[in-house]
Amino acid sequence: MTKHTPDAKKSPDLAPAPDSLRTITCTGCPMGCQVTVTQEPGGEWHFSGAQCSRGDVHARQEITDPVRPLTTLIPVRSSRTPLSVKTSQPVPKALFWDFVDQIHRLRIECPIHTGDILAENLMGTGIALIATRNLE
Ligand code: SF4
Repeated sequence: MTKHTPDAKKSPDLAPAPDSLRTITCTGCPMGCQVTVTQEPGGEWHFSGAQCSRGDVHARQEITDPVRPLTTLIPVRSSRTPLSVKTSQPVPKALFWDFVDQIHRLRIECPIHTGDILAENLMGTGIALIATRNLE
């Protein structure tokens, strides 16, 4: 008598991809290339599918140290209008919400001009916070 286990019923088509295989969408331009990332048994990464070298760079960044651009609105003490801000460079994905918390705890006052640096060393990373509009 054959014993039927859940694995015996699985279709080969539904088998999960190996851990070493990932597809990452490059955000370098509107082409949105799908970059397939595989890891050789020796640990070396291999990238395919990008239309230019930026895709490999983006995919490598994404698998080793993912970052995200951060823009947000923050309240300003003497203004009813919130201030739009951005970080000077993308922030580590793992710390994204910690950055947001720190940014929203800042006490900012008018006048503010586009390009003003509102904080210089967010989360101790050297990443700055920059105003992206004027507020008088
Ligand atoms: S790999 Fe090059 S062409 Fe493709 S999305 Fe990235 S930047 Fe654009």
